[in-house]
Amino acid sequence: MRIPVAGPWITEKEIAYVTEAASTAWYSKAGTFTARFESSFSEYLGVNHAVSLPSCTSALHLSLLALGVGPGDEVIVPDVTWIASSAPISYVGATPVFADIDPLSWCLAADCFEACITERTKAVIPVDLYGNMPDMDAITAVARAHNVAVIEDAAEAIGSRFKGKLAGSFGEIGAFSFHGSKTLTTGEGGMLVTNDSAIYARVLVLRDHGRRPGDTMFMNGEVAFKYKMSDLQAALGLAQLERIDELVSRKRKIFSWYAEELADVDGLQLNYQSSDTFNTYWMVTVVLDPSYGSKERIIRALRERSIDCRPFFSPLSSLPAYAGHPESARARERNRVSYELGSQGVNLPSALNLDREAVHFVCEQLRNVLDGQRTQ
Ligand SMILES: *Cc1c(COP(=O)(O)O)cnc(C)c1O
Repeated sequence: MRIPVAGPWITEKEIAYVTEAASTAWYSKAGTFTARFESSFSEYLGVNHAVSLPSCTSALHLSLLALGVGPGDEVIVPDVTWIASSAPISYVGATPVFADIDPLSWCLAADCFEACITERTKAVIPVDLYGNMPDMDAITAVARAHNVAVIEDAAEAIGSRFKGKLAGSFGEIGAFSFHGSKTLTTGEGGMLVTNDSAIYARVLVLRDHGRRPGDTMFMNGEVAFKYKMSDLQAALGLAQLERIDELVSRKRKIFSWYAEELADVDGLQLNYQSSDTFNTYWMVTVVLDPSYGSKERIIRALRERSIDCRPFFSPLSSLPAYAGHPESARARERNRVSYELGSQGVNLPSALNLDREAVHFVCEQLRNVLDGQRTQ
């Protein structure tokens, strides 16, 4: 049995809701589960509007379009994140600018964000990395001062809080992912949230082939996109959302087991939680002293012991996908923290089905691997 790096927690409730959707959500009842999921989600988050979508990537794409970001514009994104945070910037023809991260939270650093602003900067996409949150007060203040829109990528952070306020509710727009690896899953799926009714209205048109809601004559006003979630996925999401406190508690429990097991290991930094933050620890992550060797070696050794882990995101500016991109060279020079952490971090198994025993086994094996590396 391999120990999985990520995975959901599905109960009878989810199965019952999906079964109900499969049997009833057609004809006059089509759309009922997406509507329920959206209203429950916006209520949970304390925002005015939520739009269910096929992915977080599509939510970020629509966010940029709704804000009018396009060719010639620049959008700032942390150098360390999943490429889905930045790819939509290219979809709309704008230029991604990669800013450095904070050494403790591993999220966008407000001063690095500010240093990257030019007269072409239209938006910033702070990312709530691994369930943690950046200093949203500082980021929002910089954004306001320079008239830059904030799109919060909360894909990994449902349930996290900064000064009591939920992740995803900070910017003009927030985006969530319900991919199978995320804390709340619909298999594949996403949500866009906003308090701005003009953005909301624009997103509804953009995600339905340029058709206004309620247009029963199919008179498309523009060529746009088809980004919708099905009732079957929404039923799964609704059941998961009704269990959100349980899911978040489980994530925090898993982290606390790791913290306990690894407390006495030298040269090892775990996910940080500042006094302003409630971290939901989407991925328990260790950053290791360089004397332990590279992340690649540690990951390989753990995989040989039936433990699946992942590398800490390599800086976007180091990826082949952005080779030759003029911003990459600048970021490689500038983003010291991204490059230091990016080479030494490992995501440990954080699936919601892990128990205490599994975490103990992972930590025992990790200690073993680390002891071996240091004595070599
Ligand atoms: C998973 C993830 C996404 C993309 O989510 P999809 O639903 O797969 O499109 C975006 N940003 C971050 C930070 C993620 O972890």
